[in-house]
Amino acid sequence: MKAEIISVGTELLLGQILNTNSKYLSERLAELGINVYTHTTVGDNSERLRQAFNNAADRVNLIITTGGLGPTGDDITRETLSAFLNLPLEISAEEADRIQQHFKRRGLEWVDSNSKQAAFFPGSVFLKNEVGTAPGLALKGSDYSFILLPGPPNEMQLMFSKYAVPWMKNNIMDPAILPLHSMILKFMGISESKLENILEDLFRNQTEPTLALYAKTGEIQLRITARAQSSAHFQQLIQPSLDEIMKRAAQYLTAVNEETLAVTLMRILKERNLTVSTAESCTGGIVSSLFTANPGSSQYYVGSVIAYSNEIKTKLLDIPAKLIQEHGAVSPQVAEAMAEGIKNKTGSAIGIGITGIAGPGGGTSEKPVGLVYIAVNTPEQKICTSHKLTGNRETIRQRAAITALHQLWKLIR
Ligand code: ATP
Repeated sequence: MKAEIISVGTELLLGQILNTNSKYLSERLAELGINVYTHTTVGDNSERLRQAFNNAADRVNLIITTGGLGPTGDDITRETLSAFLNLPLEISAEEADRIQQHFKRRGLEWVDSNSKQAAFFPGSVFLKNEVGTAPGLALKGSDYSFILLPGPPNEMQLMFSKYAVPWMKNNIMDPAILPLHSMILKFMGISESKLENILEDLFRNQTEPTLALYAKTGEIQLRITARAQSSAHFQQLIQPSLDEIMKRAAQYLTAVNEETLAVTLMRILKERNLTVSTAESCTGGIVSSLFTANPGSSQYYVGSVIAYSNEIKTKLLDIPAKLIQEHGAVSPQVAEAMAEGIKNKTGSAIGIGITGIAGPGGGTSEKPVGLVYIAVNTPEQKICTSHKLTGNRETIRQRAAITALHQLWKLIR
């Protein structure tokens, strides 16, 4: 089955919101084994939406729309489809009543235009909206089928997973087509080209599973994909490739699937009963944020001092002003003193100190923009590494934070 996602909303075209609905639906459809051929985005304009339906009907057999199901004048998806299919809309008294009840429960004032959300085409079924007002619609046709979903992501996602997927399985999907499964391996400390090089024969000979590499900020992801009846079947299918990849690149693997490096670290720190604290200068708390993003982080993450000014480095981390004067705030000596200082202040087992030049100003030929020193002080070792990171201020800060986690991981894994 070939699908097209049509996102309706002028806000999307103006760049005011990011089209997360298409991303969500594409991921889910791929898991179901449905090939998404095209994404189309149109504004709240009937003529152009009609044209989009026309184009989609020529090339796919499942058309999914998001947005434009609400009560206002610019919510035009239902009406435009009605005109396109030449199927008149009818109002469902039952659905209109449900929407009215929803308004009552929330103490909202009823406006008659809300009834238009209860409109349906002959032959279509409503998809329940458990969190908002506008229900979705599903319509099976002989050449192509339609699924109309609301715009708000929370409404759309729940409706899709709970009502649209079962409808698709019962009405339009071929049960013989196996769903697509994938596993993502996340690597650090190796370049994309080097990883491709050491796995070259696996890439060359791939059929099922298929392998694909993606470079993300600070890490390289390898996606392994295959069609399989179940997760267990998928695991079995990919095991030989996985074993081969591990044989060659296990030392660079930092996380799998949804996991982040911070989650991997959390597991190791817990296992080893270690705590960590950070003293951040150029990263301004990003490392702390990466750690604390994970529930349960208080068990191993103690806290942070954002020691941006020299004064705070001295006052809160006991770094002698003389040391900063002698070597400069961005120096291995200061990074080490920051790691030591935060460790002493918090009593954590591990201290991390980060200092660098995020730019765009402040660089010199000796200490250019992107130069970052990271010190990690564990019960067994003290290291300080220097990194020359590239990018704009934000990417340098992000990279510095991820690199700090990576340095810690290399010491305690
Ligand atoms: P409502 O009943 O709330 O009016 P609707 O089905 O008419 O829902 P829209 O009015 O088109 O949907 O969009 C409502 C909101 O949903 C938008 O303001 C936006 O915040 C969000 N939204 C819409 N489309 C998308 C999308 N493709 N990706 C992410 N968010 C979206």
